Amino acid sequence: MAEYDIDLFVIGGGSGGVRAARIAASYGAKVMIAEEYRMGGTCVIRGCVPKKLFVIGSHVRQELEDAAGFGWTVPQASFDWPTLIANKDEEIARLEAAYTVNVEKSGARVVKTRAVFEDSHTLRLATGETVKADHVLIATGGAPDHGAEIPGIEHVISSNDAFHLPELPRRVVIQGGGYIALEFAGIFSGFGSDVTVIYRGDNILRGFDEDIRVQVRAEMEKRGITILTRCTVTKVARHGKEFTTHLSNGSSIASEQVMFAIGRIPNVANLGLEKAGVAINPKNGGIAVDGWSKTSVPHIYAIGDVTHRRNLTPVAIREGHAFADTVFGKRPVRVDHATIPTAVFSQPEVGTVGLTETEARAQFSHVDIYKATFRPIKATMSGRDTRVLMKLVVDGVSDRVLGCHIIGDAAAEIIQAVAIAVKMKARKADFDATLALHPTAAEELVTMRVPTARHVRQAAE
Ligand SMILES: Cc1cc2nc3c(=O)[nH]c(=O)nc-3n(C[C@H](O)[C@H](O)[C@H](O)COP(=O)(O)OP(=O)(O)OC[C@H]3O[C@@H](n4cnc5c(N)ncnc54)[C@H](O)[C@@H]3O)c2cc1C
Repeated sequence: MAEYDIDLFVIGGGSGGVRAARIAASYGAKVMIAEEYRMGGTCVIRGCVPKKLFVIGSHVRQELEDAAGFGWTVPQASFDWPTLIANKDEEIARLEAAYTVNVEKSGARVVKTRAVFEDSHTLRLATGETVKADHVLIATGGAPDHGAEIPGIEHVISSNDAFHLPELPRRVVIQGGGYIALEFAGIFSGFGSDVTVIYRGDNILRGFDEDIRVQVRAEMEKRGITILTRCTVTKVARHGKEFTTHLSNGSSIASEQVMFAIGRIPNVANLGLEKAGVAINPKNGGIAVDGWSKTSVPHIYAIGDVTHRRNLTPVAIREGHAFADTVFGKRPVRVDHATIPTAVFSQPEVGTVGLTETEARAQFSHVDIYKATFRPIKATMSGRDTRVLMKLVVDGVSDRVLGCHIIGDAAAEIIQAVAIAVKMKARKADFDATLALHPTAAEELVTMRVPTARHVRQAAE
């Protein structure tokens, strides 16, 4: 140990780095964790948490609109963007402080500075100080990627900027069809902006179940969001406080903000990885790791978004925890990346776990689909034109539930519980044996008796 100043140096104080530092320290390791921006990382500072607060805030509009059908007369409501931003900033600052305190309480030392490799065991801090570590964990996360340079790209904001806009834009153009683009479309629209989503593919939410993709789009359009597919932004021109977004289909749109949410890149640049001998995965541009999150250098590990596997907070946390257990807890833990539940906090919300219908039909010879779309009870009196979707994808041979896909209020909350059953390899018969809880939307998951479709793959001749 005398050879090294510390047992573990963690680069990055985000979801994964913080968990790894705390658990390693709890095993008695001497740990230092460096954060160049704000403790808590993307999720806490400019991701999941402020995003969800914005979603909750913007959803209030719908509650107010729906109230009339239940007898409420709501006086003319008004919304103040600066109040939202200030209150959000206060909450994020509280969380940031809590993260720092909790890491320090675990015994790890927090250094608020950038750290890069000098060699495979030596880290150089921005202060000039160098630290020698027995093990290093790279947990530097990722950053928004605006894609190819187009004229006027400097006018385009990312999700990072969207959390700090001085005022609510009257009109917003958002390029992207993934969860971040759609969540911000719902946020801006809910607060009252006129929103246009631009997506290059056939339909939004690539990779999600087809029924989800079609219905989310329809529901968002019903709420007044314009979704233009099969086109891209080719140029953004500024005229004072207004922008003109030119599209590949020859049309153009005026707005006060243009946001891109078209992808994220792992933070691997200028880290000194070449000095340390750490290899990049040529397939995704992230740090190459094995099933234990070990890089090409045996004492250097990488977890979370910087490895570009499944870029989600609980995944980064699980990988960080598993790393600490394996290396410092003498308890080898390998993260199982199968069956990860995810949500899209669009309005309405999406919750999904397991295989899509397309994936299941590619992997299984017999696939049964149970699907229900219906008007939620609230809409019967609010008068809102909206539908819930509940879908189960079942292996027709073993009766195992392979996937569950939901659109509607609390879809994310429901799917978290359903994920336990799917992870446990529950059968459709187990769902059927479970009594319904009435009146809920989720009861549909245990009352769908007859398949709406049955797919049998013919054996190859
Ligand atoms: C808008 C948005 C919404 C999201 N919503 C969700 C959601 O609802 N649910 C979900 O599960 N996930 C969500 N995510 C993804 C989630 O935020 C990430 O998967 C998660 O934060 C990854 O954790 P991490 O530890 O890998 O990296 P990060 O949390 O990004 O942390 C990396 C940290 O490293 C620091 N750093 C980088 N380089 C250095 C260096 N050289 N020296 C010192 N520090 C450095 C960075 O400043 C950063 O704080 C969202 C992301 C975004 C952008």
